[in-house]
Amino acid sequence: MGQTNSIEESLSDRHPDAKQAGQHMVIDKAEWVPGKHPDPNRRHEGQTEYLERYLRCIQCGVEVLDEEHLPDQCEVERR
Ligand SMILES: [Zn+2]
Repeated sequence: MGQTNSIEESLSDRHPDAKQAGQHMVIDKAEWVPGKHPDPNRRHEGQTEYLERYLRCIQCGVEVLDEEHLPDQCEVERR
């Protein structure tokens, strides 16, 4: 219903770990993903989920695996 998201975003706005990346302010995020790791070196027998690390811009909300994948523009959605 959108309510949970808006609470999360207002907390993220004051995230102390945010760092500048081009026009973006990104924070490190990690999330358990069901399935086996896409990288064979980090995959193991019987693995049912893996921890995926990614970056999230607290301004425009874009999520990328690598800083180099960030779009040039940080377009802040104003509501
Ligand atoms: Zn951004």
